[in-house]
Amino acid sequence: MKLILIGAPGVGKGTQAKRLSEKFDVPHIATGDILREAVRLGTAVGLKAKGFMEAGNLVPDAVMIEIVEERFEQGDTRTGYILDGFPRTVHQAEALDQLLARLGLPPQGVILFECDDEVITARIAGRRTCEKCQRPYHVRFSPPKREDVCDVDGGKLIQRPDDSEAKVRERLKNYRDQTAPLIPYYERRGLLRRVDAKNSPEAVSTAVETVVSCFR
Ligand code: AMP
Repeated sequence: MKLILIGAPGVGKGTQAKRLSEKFDVPHIATGDILREAVRLGTAVGLKAKGFMEAGNLVPDAVMIEIVEERFEQGDTRTGYILDGFPRTVHQAEALDQLLARLGLPPQGVILFECDDEVITARIAGRRTCEKCQRPYHVRFSPPKREDVCDVDGGKLIQRPDDSEAKVRERLKNYRDQTAPLIPYYERRGLLRRVDAKNSPEAVSTAVETVVSCFR
């Protein structure tokens, strides 16, 4: 299964990407997770990306394209991949097209998760993320079994610094300006399918499964 997931921050892509990755046993490639790990470790990429991320802005395309090229070099994507958070600009999408064509791994489809800004803002306010494995939780909609502790690895659950209200407004604006042009880009190629993402994770999963069955 070779899929690209797109949608605004907080729309639930990460949750669905994890489920798809487990279901189809293919790697979940989340560029936000890769960057947060790089920042945590203080690598050269992390140092470059930190300021952009903290401001709620996109990290420059050249940095992102290099990260994704390196990730695909690991070779575990031969059976498929779930791309989550990349591409986020048309320039990134063009570079990705070239990379995937070169590797003989073109995507089967692109899923667009759609949701109103108010729902997104409320979701992000309650979002908590495992410091270790980056698994997403929500204080109301998908709470951990023990408060502030990850069910899977016991990691501490934190609120991401870019999940504050002001940063979320900035990220939503950037999504509209820089990422939304991907919608006509993939629509023109006949790859785009839309999923209503305002419902519960289970309801969204069911909708995703219906869409994915059309790609197979
Ligand atoms: P996410 O976890 O997907 O919400 O990403 C967190 C942050 O990482 C974003 O707000 C950006 O600053 C940065 N980021 C992640 N993926 C990309 C990308 N494809 N292009 C540019 N910046 C990105």
